[in-house]
Amino acid sequence: MQGFIHSTESLGTVDGPGIRFVIFMQGCPLRCKYCHNPDSWNINGGKAYQSDEIFEIAMKYKNYFMKNGGITLTGGEPLLQMDFCIELLKKFKAAGVHTAVDTSGFMFDIKRNESVEKHLELIKYTDLFLLDIKHISSLKHKELTGVPNDNTLAFAKFLSEHNKAMWVRYVLVPNLTDSEEDLKELRKFLDNLKTVEKVEVLPYHTMGVPKYKKLGIDYPLANVTAPSKAQVEFAKKILTR
Ligand code: SF4
Repeated sequence: MQGFIHSTESLGTVDGPGIRFVIFMQGCPLRCKYCHNPDSWNINGGKAYQSDEIFEIAMKYKNYFMKNGGITLTGGEPLLQMDFCIELLKKFKAAGVHTAVDTSGFMFDIKRNESVEKHLELIKYTDLFLLDIKHISSLKHKELTGVPNDNTLAFAKFLSEHNKAMWVRYVLVPNLTDSEEDLKELRKFLDNLKTVEKVEVLPYHTMGVPKYKKLGIDYPLANVTAPSKAQVEFAKKILTR
């Protein structure tokens, strides 16, 4: 099967445990205001690969990632290419590789049987999910990303019900995602899940800004600066306790 890939990173250290071969899939249905990969949005972009091809490229690095690491599918939104992801993950699992998927959970539509069935298949071949919860308030989530958070929260519950390990990732943006009330509300939601192994607070940064300039898109958070160390510590205290 053919899939569209934005890029790869052979020795990734921030997308899951250990050293990882990271595959950035092309295409994303969200438009997060702080996105630092706007060049991954267009589903018609990226480079076409057969699943075998990308599997073989990744396995060249197996000496680095086999011990404590593995591979991670991220994006964009990798699950926009669900069938390709499942095929690829199956190959890695058959080769004994630890697999992680970094997702917004947006593709999980509990009202559609087909979507639920695909996700049931997906979790068979995924050891760990890195679940990006962008905001606990659906209204604010929509303002921030263009879509509500129902699917994301439903997917978190689905992973918990199916005993699937997850690391929750939360981007901390001053004045947008850092209110004490919202952080506490998110923590309350996480407290009801039984498979959250870790919560990662990711400080907002502006490294993606040059990409917007290159693409001729206005950067939506032009006046927002990175959170201070104290702001990050405050959020961590609430979310990672
Ligand atoms: S989900 Fe990720 S890739 Fe998609 S817009 Fe948001 S930050 Fe960017």
